[in-house]
Amino acid sequence: MIIIDGTAGEGGGQILRSSLALSLVMGEAFRIENIRAGRPKPGLMRQHVTAVEAACAVGGATCDGLALGARDITFRPGRITPGDHHFAIGTAGSTSLVLQTVLPALMMAAAPSRLVIEGGTHNPAAPPFEFLERCFLPRLARFGPQVTARLIRHGFFPAGGGRIEVEIEPAPLRPVDFGGRGPLRGLVGTVLIAGLPGGIARREIETASTAPGLPGATWHLRILPPDLGPGNTLSIEALFDDGSEIVTGFAERGLGAEALARVAARRMAGFLETGAWAGPHLADQLLLPLALAGGGGFTTVAPSGHGLTNAEVIHRFTGRRIVFTPQADGTHGVALA
Ligand code: ATP
Repeated sequence: MIIIDGTAGEGGGQILRSSLALSLVMGEAFRIENIRAGRPKPGLMRQHVTAVEAACAVGGATCDGLALGARDITFRPGRITPGDHHFAIGTAGSTSLVLQTVLPALMMAAAPSRLVIEGGTHNPAAPPFEFLERCFLPRLARFGPQVTARLIRHGFFPAGGGRIEVEIEPAPLRPVDFGGRGPLRGLVGTVLIAGLPGGIARREIETASTAPGLPGATWHLRILPPDLGPGNTLSIEALFDDGSEIVTGFAERGLGAEALARVAARRMAGFLETGAWAGPHLADQLLLPLALAGGGGFTTVAPSGHGLTNAEVIHRFTGRRIVFTPQADGTHGVALA
């Protein structure tokens, strides 16, 4: 049995999710101790419990010690069951992070699947739906599996109530060498707002549209029905020949509209300057397919603590090392050793 130390690296929930995903794919049991030891509220939160339950349902698995707040669990995978699955997180816990847990096993399974996941679709510290749909899934398709996601209802933190539907057409993974990102073809900013004064959205657009480093960006305001709120995000999508990169800012208590817009604009401007193929989140999310495909690579910005921790978990389950190699142009190459 593989023993995973939840305090490793930044000590967050990614260690658990990647362990569950890889345990299902590799058919290896694991025990994880000190789950999310690096977080202010350690242990399993509602969304992590749902991720474990989802992994049990999809993988015919059993889990000892599963409870809200649990710090140690033992997970034993069984037989993968593709097909129809419905997971309700019951809070604004992220639907995309539950998907992240079960997708690797289902995208390599013997038959297609259709998932319905209810919870948050636009949560801080998780891929928002648009990132999943336009940034991650199109890149995943290049490895072989075809996965499409539909947003049925928005779910903002903290109310939740969102719903996504995902169709998975599995295929064996093939290595992909992602080359350059190609020229920038456009920049599109979008503010989503629900149940909050429209002035917030206008201030965000005003700030981001006059920020440096975002040439010729066009801006859209989407006002959603108030009963979906309160919720507010600002995203900036860069359209390259080779696909999209998306930066998102999430409204939080105590974070002003201008500050949210400035941070998102600065992040995108910084990414555009680098010439890297993937931003930190896309890079992080592609490590697992890269390792399972057994080859290929891409360039990204400096590796995040999150990415390095994830690479370590991947090594524990697959025996494959992911290396980040600084390039002459300041980007980092990501490849299997
Ligand atoms: P927790 O312990 O609270 O569960 P965590 O370590 O799981 O934290 P994060 O490190 O914040 O959480 O990231 C979770 C996942 O969400 C990662 O795959 C990360 O790439 C992704 N992610 C976070 N923010 C964004 C964003 N703005 N856009 C796209 N993906 C994101």
